[in-house]
Parts: sequence; C-alpha cells; structure tokens
Amino acid sequence: MSALEGQISDFELTGALAEFRDRSRAFAEKELLPHAAAWDRDTEFPREAVQKAADQGFLKITVPEEYGGSALGNLASCIMLEEFNAACPSAGVTVSVHNSLACSLLSKWGLPEVKAECFPKLVTGEWLGAYCLSEAGSGSDAAALVCTAKEDGDEWVLDGPKLWITTGSEAGLFIVFARTGEDRVKGISAFVVERDHPGVSIGKKERKLGLKASPTVEVLLENVRIPKRNLLGEVGNGFTIALDTLDGGRLGIASQSLGIARHAIDLIKAHLAGQVDHKGRPNASQAHQYTLADLSTDLDAARFLTWRAATLRDRDIRCSGEAAMAKLKASRLANEAARAAVSILGVDGASGASAAERCLRDARITEIYEGATDIQRLVIARSVLASS
Ligand SMILES: Cc1cc2nc3c(=O)[nH]c(=O)nc-3n(C[C@H](O)[C@H](O)[C@H](O)COP(=O)(O)OP(=O)(O)OC[C@H]3O[C@@H](n4cnc5c(N)ncnc54)[C@H](O)[C@@H]3O)c2cc1C
Repeated sequence: MSALEGQISDFELTGALAEFRDRSRAFAEKELLPHAAAWDRDTEFPREAVQKAADQGFLKITVPEEYGGSALGNLASCIMLEEFNAACPSAGVTVSVHNSLACSLLSKWGLPEVKAECFPKLVTGEWLGAYCLSEAGSGSDAAALVCTAKEDGDEWVLDGPKLWITTGSEAGLFIVFARTGEDRVKGISAFVVERDHPGVSIGKKERKLGLKASPTVEVLLENVRIPKRNLLGEVGNGFTIALDTLDGGRLGIASQSLGIARHAIDLIKAHLAGQVDHKGRPNASQAHQYTLADLSTDLDAARFLTWRAATLRDRDIRCSGEAAMAKLKASRLANEAARAAVSILGVDGASGASAAERCLRDARITEIYEGATDIQRLVIARSVLASS
C-alpha cells in the first residue's frame, strides 16, 4: 500500500455497473447479433429490437429520474453502447443518438414543461430522437449552417433542409440548429421540433457504405411553426449547446468504435484459435499473433480513454479534449481491427456475407461523423495548447 493518499481508478467494473454491462451484453447477443447481418443486407431499420431496448430501459439512461429516466449517465451509456455495437452498429448508433445527443441535450437545456411533455414519449420508445445540425454546406464547419428560425408572435418559424440525419425517418423528436442572427457563431440557436409539427417532412434517404440498417435522411423544414418554449437554452447559444452535446456524442461513437473493434478482434481470435498443427497445438503465424496482440492492447487503451472522458462528463467536468482523444483512438482502432480481420480471414473476410466485411464498412463511418478524424485532432491540439 502506498503512503500517498488518493487513487486514480480500480480499472475494473464492479457492482451495479458490471451487472449493467452483463445485462446490456445479454440483450445485444439475444436481440441484435442474430439479426444484424440480415438487417444490413436488407437495409432494414430494426424497429422492433429498438422498441425492445426501450422496454428494457436502455433508451432512458441519460434522462433524469423525475422525468421517468434512470439517469445512469455517460459511463453506463458507454458500457452499454460497446455491447450493442459489438453486435449491431446500426442499432447501436440509433440508441447512441437517442441517448447521447437528443435526450441528454433536452435534459440539460430544455424548459421543464417541454421535458415533461417530451420525455414520457422518449423513455418508452414511442419517440426516437434525432439531431439535426448538418446541412449541404455545413458539415465539419457547423457554423456555416443557413437553416433559419424567425420569431413571429408567440412562435418560432423554421425553414431549411437538414442533411444526413441519423434515424430521421423514424424519429418523433428533432433537435434542430438554426440561424437566428447574422453572427456566424452567436447567431445560432437550438430548438425542439416534433415530427407532427406541420411543415416537417422527410426527403431523400442516403445510400451508404455502412450502417445500412440505420436510416440517414434529409429532414425538410418548411415554414414550421413551433411554440416559443421549444427554444433550448438562450437565443444565440446554439453553437455552444451543439459542441457541448457533441462531447457526449463522441463518447457514444468512441464506444461504437470499441464495439466494432472488439467484434473484429474476436473474429481474428476465433480464426487463429482454429489454426493448429497435426498434434492439435496452436499454430497461428507469428505475424498474425503480433497483430492480435497489438489490437488487443489498443482496445484496452481506447476503452480506458473512453471511460476516463465519460467519468469526467458524469462529474460535469468539461472533457472536449478527452472525448476527442477517445473518439480519435477508438475510431482509428475500429478501422485497423476491421482491416486486419478482413486480411487475416482471407476470402472468409472479404466475402460480402461476412461479419468482417460488415465491420470494415461500418468502421469507416466512425471516422467521419460527429467530427471527422482531423477535426478531433484539432480539438485535441487546442485543448493541449490551452493547458500549457
Ligand atoms: C452515416 C452518417 C450519419 C450522420 N448523421 C448525422 C446526424 O444525425 N446529424 C447531423 O447533424 N449530421 C450527421 N452526419 C453528418 C456528419 O456529422 C458530417 O458528415 C461530418 O460532420 C463531416 O462533414 P462533411 O461530411 O461535410 O465533411 P467535410 O466537412 O467536408 O470534411 C471532409 C474532410 O475534410 C476534413 N476537414 C474539414 N474541415 C477541416 C479543417 N478545418 N481542418 C482539417 N481538416 C478538415 C475532415 O476532417 C474530413 O476528413 C452524418 C454523417 C454520416 C456519414
């Protein structure tokens, strides 16, 4: 025992968190894994499975208890998302966006009467949440958005298309970022828009490389009138809200990446375990063993980065740099592990019906959305420089 006081962590899940991980894993293995390949092949949204996830309480973990949530927080969310994404990243991103982007944002910035109205539907899965920031001319440069929100009496009137919206066609609630002023950053505000508000419609569905069972669509807003109370936070702080929420969202995508990486590593493990000599002794090539060792080490490292950032966020400590590090490391690893799985499994990895091929296609997207890889590096550099 050290004479110095204090501890950093016990590096292990215990008690209720370990039980929650086991429950998440059992759900993923029973309800997601057996169907993931077919959902991907048929680009079929797993509506029934997502509803079962809601029924088991997985869609309310960032919602406060007073609104029917379980308030389990960011670390629990990361643990659950690794399990879901190891089984089916399309279902995983649906749950991630619902919890980490829509519900957590509404919880932090919504008015009590709006929360009281929306959360009962969000926690039961009657509504899924979507996050509408991107536009045709505004991806990494989110402040370039042009969708407008204008005050008119007791209402806000929203106009403009939003692009590449995860779960958009299935969602009941949209968090929408729109321009309320000319200043690039301070002229952006955030709003709650319901699917049933007149003027909301769904445009084209994207044909994508991966996450094929997660619908990504255009959300069209044409003269959409919403009550004043649907403003989130203050007028003009939408950009701050977007970035703050993305810290949590990036933990969701880091966890998705961990799940994909773990799945790919498991495929390699199973393949190498089957390679034995004529006496039944392990006979995998040394090069493949090195790859397995490196990937397994990086998986633990990426998981610890993710859990560190989640723990900070659960304590209400700003974690932009830490969340970006987690996403950067984990999403690169997901790609590396998936590439290795395809190579090592050979034709069994390259086949269009293989799990390794699906891992590779899904992994590519983790380096694009919720801040592309180079954007994460800029966030990390900014954070490191600010602390020096
Ligand atoms: C499957 C999927 C689902 C999505 N879901 C949602 C959603 O639910 N809601 C939503 O709002 N958006 C969503 N998006 C959009 C996503 O957030 C954007 O794709 C992302 O922000 C990148 O924007 P972009 O595609 O326009 O790429 P760009 O911004 O054009 O970037 C392209 C490349 O250039 C690099 N780059 C850009 N600017 C810089 C810079 N300043 N310095 C260095 N490098 C730079 C990037 O790193 C990237 O590699 C989704 C995207 C995908 C693929």
